[in-house]
Order: sequence, then structure tokens, then C-alpha cells
Amino acid sequence: MNPSEVFEIIEKHTKMMDESIPLIASENLTSLAVRRCYVSDLGHRYAEGKVGERFYEGCKYVDEIEELAVELTKKIFEAEHANVQPISGVVANIAAFFALTDVGDTIMSISVPCGGHISHDTVSAAGLRGLKVVHYPFDNEAVNIDVDETARLAREIRPKLFVLGSSLILFRQPVEEIREIANEIGAHVMYDASHVLGLIAGRAFQNPLKEGAEVMTGSTHKTFFGPQRAIIACRKELSERVDRAVFPGVVSNHHLNTLAGYVIAATEMIEFGREYAKQVVRNAKRLAEELYNLGYKVLGEKAGFTETHQVAVDVREHGGGEEVAKKLEKVGIILNKNLLPWDPIDKSANPSGIRIGVQEITRLGMKEDEMKRLAELIDMAVREKKSFEAIREEVKEFRKDFRVIKYSFKESEAYRFPELK
Ligand SMILES: *Cc1c(COP(=O)(O)O)cnc(C)c1O
Repeated sequence: MNPSEVFEIIEKHTKMMDESIPLIASENLTSLAVRRCYVSDLGHRYAEGKVGERFYEGCKYVDEIEELAVELTKKIFEAEHANVQPISGVVANIAAFFALTDVGDTIMSISVPCGGHISHDTVSAAGLRGLKVVHYPFDNEAVNIDVDETARLAREIRPKLFVLGSSLILFRQPVEEIREIANEIGAHVMYDASHVLGLIAGRAFQNPLKEGAEVMTGSTHKTFFGPQRAIIACRKELSERVDRAVFPGVVSNHHLNTLAGYVIAATEMIEFGREYAKQVVRNAKRLAEELYNLGYKVLGEKAGFTETHQVAVDVREHGGGEEVAKKLEKVGIILNKNLLPWDPIDKSANPSGIRIGVQEITRLGMKEDEMKRLAELIDMAVREKKSFEAIREEVKEFRKDFRVIKYSFKESEAYRFPELK
């Protein structure tokens, strides 16, 4: 084993991505400016504590960067307070649970089949905190929380915290309504905006902080332009509890190289976010309509299929999510199988659905016309209208014109792997 072998593997991976259509809803690309930060000296350093109150010396310039990150985050989300230290969405959620709950408390969250994230459940972060989890009653057809049933159940079980936000998220969630119930029973409301952070920043989706959530957590790399990390934005009165939960609670080093990358991503969001977010939602709607017209069971039909970057399709009649996702991978269309609201959570089960995210291909410059072609390519593979090899070639051809990262100050090649050997 020598270092060049690792680089060879990375090159193969990069080429694979370059020739595929990336539709994983939780992923995105970063501009070259953001990537330059990753390889800087910042990635070797520690800056425990807060800006101006560090435990180690040598943090003068890190403080400048973190201060910028905090101020930009507050500005983008119109937040009273922001903590930019969580190194991922799950870490942010663990911190939020520590800040808002005590061991043994009951919380309400969305179940995984209904779109909730594992960290909102007992198998993950919520369980680690020793919380009891009760799931919201859910309207499968509307693909959203059933507010009336939730109010009834919440009055009975009196949760300490309502967790909103999901991983399969097609529509705005009833934040204002849940806030009212929370006020009645004296509970907190937090919104996990991991998936929709970039749409909120681009003013194309509900801003939960303005609708009554006291805390918003979120990964910065799904619809947002940033590196893989996370933020917590909250009301002023919770700032100390949140900050203490993050450090010393759940981070020691907080990845200062990607923190600098986040600052750049945030400035890109301020400059280009609105245009991008609008196009993301347009693309998702268009792709959903095209698939529907080709005879697919696209979720959320009555509400216009989607208000986010995501499209969910029930593919049971095509062999289920497992088979369809594997088939699409063969032709270079990369997405994931996904549980749908009626599915059991049993790991061995073949999920009913697939989840499609258009945020990354939007950042590569695709618009509505490309969504029509994409729907045709998906259909060709799912219904096996041609050989997989033939479709694979069409995918590569289609992909060729979309290899530059848009919505950034200087357009950069998405798949250039810098020569480091
Ligand atoms: C992706 C996701 C997370 C986890 O984020 P990481 O940055 O991968 O830790 C948390 N919550 C929701 C709703 C998510 O979709």
C-alpha cells in the first residue's frame, strides 16, 4: 500500500460522479473557493471555547473567521443567536436535546417512515439523551403532520419538546400550529432544517424561527452551499444553554478548515441563494410532473407534489425502492431507496419508495428542460426500455454539459481533482 493508490481510488470515485447524475437529496457540491479552505492550516488547529474566550493561544485569526460565520448565520436566518460549531447535523441535534430537555422527558417527533431523521428517535440521539419518543399522528396522503390529532395526543402526553423538520420533506410543516399547542402545555419547539437550510436561506421555504420555533438546527451541506457541518440558530434567552451544550457538551475541536469554507458558502448564499432556491423548487416540481405524466405514483399529488428540492415516488409496482435504486445505479443515476409513511421500519423490508433530490444538479446548472429529459432517462431504466449499457451511454452524454458549479462568485469545475501526488 502506498499513498498513490489512495489517490487512484479517489480519482476513480471522482470520475464515477462526473459521469453520473447525482440525485441524493442530502448531498451537494462546494465551490472551489470553499474547497480551498479544506486544505489550509486551519484544519490542524483547535479553538475550544468562544470567540475571544479561547482555551489555547494562537486563535486570533480563527476568531475573525468564527465571528464572520456567526454574524452571517444570524443575518441569513434572521436569528437572535447562532452557534456555528457543531460538526454535523446529528451533533447539532444532540446539543439541542441537551439544551432543551432532561433525561426521561417525552418528546414528539416524526417517525422515520413518515420522513423523520433517525436522530429524532430512540435508536439514535434522542435515545442517547434518555428521551421517550412519541410520533406525531401523520396524514399519509398529505405527507404531513395531522395537526388536530397531534393537539389531542399532545394534551394527553404533555411532551417537553416538539421536534419538527424531516429527511423526507416535501411540504412546509405546521410550525405555527405546533407553537400554539406548545404554548398551551408549556413545551419547546425545535425545527431540524438539515434538508431545507438552503431553501430557507434563499427565501423559498418557511423560516421556522419566524413561525415560532425557538431553536433551528441544520446541516450546511444538503441544500445549503457549505461543507459538511451544521449550525444552531436560536432565541437569545436560550443562547447560553445552547452554547454550553455544544461546547463543552458535544464538540472539542470544531473543524476550523470547513468553518472557513462555511463562511464562503454563506456569502455565496447571500449573493446567489434566492435565484438558486427558486430554481431548485421549480426543477423539483417539474421533475415530479414529468414522472407523474409518465405514469409514476408521485407522492403529494393533491398539494402539487413538492415545495422543496425533493420528489418521492412510490415504486412498489416496479419492484420496490431497493430494486429500482439498484437498477438506476447501473445506468449512472444515483439516488436512494426510501421508506414511505405506510412502510414498517424493519430493516429487512424493501422500502416502497425512492427519494430524488434536485439541489445538486441545479447547482450544476440544470433547468426545467433537463428535468423532462431526466424523467425520460429514469423511466427508460426503470421500465427497461433499452439495455442498461445503452442507457448508461445516454446518461453520460446528457451529463457532459453540466460540470461547472454555478451560483458562485467564480464558476469552477466540479470534478477537477487537484494534482497532489
Ligand atoms: C441529514 C439529516 C441529519 C444529519 O445530518 P448530518 O450532518 O449528516 O449529521 C439530521 N437531521 C435531518 C432531518 C437530516 O435529514
